[in-house]
Amino acid sequence: MALLIFFICHWYISLFFQSFFHHRYAAHNMYSMSKTWEKIFHVCCYFTQGSSYISASSYGIMHRLHHAHTDKEDDPHSPKFTPNPFMLMWKTRNYYHRIYKSYATNDSKYKKDLPEWEAFDRLAHTWVSRLAWGLIYLVIYLNLATAWWMYLFLPITFAMGALQGTVVNWWAHKFGYENYHLNNTSKNIIPVDLFFVGESYHNNHHKFPGRPNNAIKWFEIDITYQIARVLQGLRILRINHAATA
Ligand SMILES: [Zn+2]
Ligand SMILES: [Zn+2]
Repeated sequence: MALLIFFICHWYISLFFQSFFHHRYAAHNMYSMSKTWEKIFHVCCYFTQGSSYISASSYGIMHRLHHAHTDKEDDPHSPKFTPNPFMLMWKTRNYYHRIYKSYATNDSKYKKDLPEWEAFDRLAHTWVSRLAWGLIYLVIYLNLATAWWMYLFLPITFAMGALQGTVVNWWAHKFGYENYHLNNTSKNIIPVDLFFVGESYHNNHHKFPGRPNNAIKWFEIDITYQIARVLQGLRILRINHAATA
């Protein structure tokens, strides 16, 4: 039971920071915040994503390429060109590493207003850091697991961020419903998004990529947007309602 609670908390917190910081802040500039808060959120991403942490600025470039080339050959993670989610995850991983390693030479039109913190990303990217997180997860499992099969979840914990990205990128371009007929395959995964903190409204998001609230219909709820409103109330950030792309 305790391990299940840990797993569920890890799922939501890690996904929230990926949605809030990597996707909405880095790639789409939906919020404005001070450099100090930007660094605090960088650290929050590292502590919640741990072994699967990726650079927000490199992710930002990759995701902007996804919007620019949706479903085309140059789309970094279109399920159209991969036979299954695991191949998509591997392809996205390789694409991401290319962007990260040759960051300085990436097309400057995709590098505008990215939250860059090179020294931090370099440290968080080391294998020492990833293995240390692996050990921390192992200790948590050793303390909380009450049956052998629970250890089957350990690889998921280790690759949490990459898996979450794959689930959304694969599923949201394959299955679900459409509020808008667009010239791409984007879908809203589930009507009441209690599992993906608002990221499941991918069809809405492709229609209005810079809109801070992914929910459109009365029954849709975007949890990340609601949390951003609270953070705005606390004067931690300002939501940029004018953002469109
Ligand atoms: Zn998409
Ligand atoms: Zn996006």
